Amino acid sequence: MDSMIRRTGTTDVAQGTHARIDLAAISANTSILASAAKGTPVMAVVKSNAYGHGLVPAARAALAGGASRLGVAHLEDALALRRADITAPILAWLPLCQADYDAAILADIELGVETPWRLALITEAAERNCYPARVHLEVDTGMSRGGATRGDWPLLVEAARRAQGAGRITVTGVFSHFACSDIPGHPSITAQLDAFEEAVGYAAAAGVEPELRHLANSAALLTLPETHYDLVRTGLAVYGLNPVEALGDFGLRPAMTLCSTVAAVKRIPAGTGVMYGLTYRAPADTTVAVVPVGYADGLPRGAGTAGIELVVAGRRHRIAGVVGMEQTVLDVGQDLPSPGEEVVLFGPGDDGELTVVELARRLDMVPAEIVARIPATIPRIYES
Ligand SMILES: *Cc1c(COP(=O)(O)O)cnc(C)c1O
Repeated sequence: MDSMIRRTGTTDVAQGTHARIDLAAISANTSILASAAKGTPVMAVVKSNAYGHGLVPAARAALAGGASRLGVAHLEDALALRRADITAPILAWLPLCQADYDAAILADIELGVETPWRLALITEAAERNCYPARVHLEVDTGMSRGGATRGDWPLLVEAARRAQGAGRITVTGVFSHFACSDIPGHPSITAQLDAFEEAVGYAAAAGVEPELRHLANSAALLTLPETHYDLVRTGLAVYGLNPVEALGDFGLRPAMTLCSTVAAVKRIPAGTGVMYGLTYRAPADTTVAVVPVGYADGLPRGAGTAGIELVVAGRRHRIAGVVGMEQTVLDVGQDLPSPGEEVVLFGPGDDGELTVVELARRLDMVPAEIVARIPATIPRIYES
């Protein structure tokens, strides 16, 4: 992919908007998570272009850091990982009706299943290819997103038992997902845990006893050891995005730094309006810097209204007016940055820039929403 640039030295600094990805941080975060899991295997979740960090390089870094499995929503992402010669077990939990189940089985992709009719599609593909499919049965323990409801669970378990008995599938896992594991003490946590226990117990009594029971996401991995079971699935924390700020930083380091460069600089007199709607008026004679980044590049439009600061030459300067589609204006006061100078939108915070977690809090967003929305066309520069 030509949007992937590997940094070879300090001289080939990219111009325009780009994301620097610290692969060593992804590996280090993963090993912190593996320690926190105390021997329970770790699945690194790399859905949505690895939360915007770049599917294949992020997956490799997480595996190098101690993850033994990968998880994605879409089958296409799982197949892309295989095409990159990644051999670790991969689970895709959102196979769609039109998904290519034959390709999934031939590429040894494990599939999440929540209904008997989808299980039938998978079983037929397994039969056609004379190769058993590996499936993970998903149970809805209270979030009402994926998974069989309590009422539908017996039917799914029975269908799986039969298909497994016929040698068409192997039930590798039973799993569910938390709605509020990032809210310490939320009553739904124990309710979901109890519902999971019940579902696992029901399946075992019916003769379906998979090797992997899994429920924990990043927040649960770090704060609820009783939810670890046989596998933990972690996304946010792999990328250094703290899932439960209230309970510490866990030593995680944000892996993405989003940068742009100053395109133009000019002086404007006090009172001059800036950007669409002229919602910002220069409080005094000032200098503005035009930065070629906008909401089409993943900088939320509201960052302007919220007065978010970006960093130029180690100093924070607020966005003046709204964020445009591809351009944003900074009020740099009496500073005089040169065109071409680097602008840091967010990063690990080392040079005074906001972290994604801080930015999300100020914009009433979640951190994953910010990083996952950075288009794949923005170059990623991988640093290790
Ligand atoms: C996204 C996702 C995860 C990872 O959640 P984090 O909070 O990012 O750790 C785990 N499991 C499923 C099913 C998911 O959809």
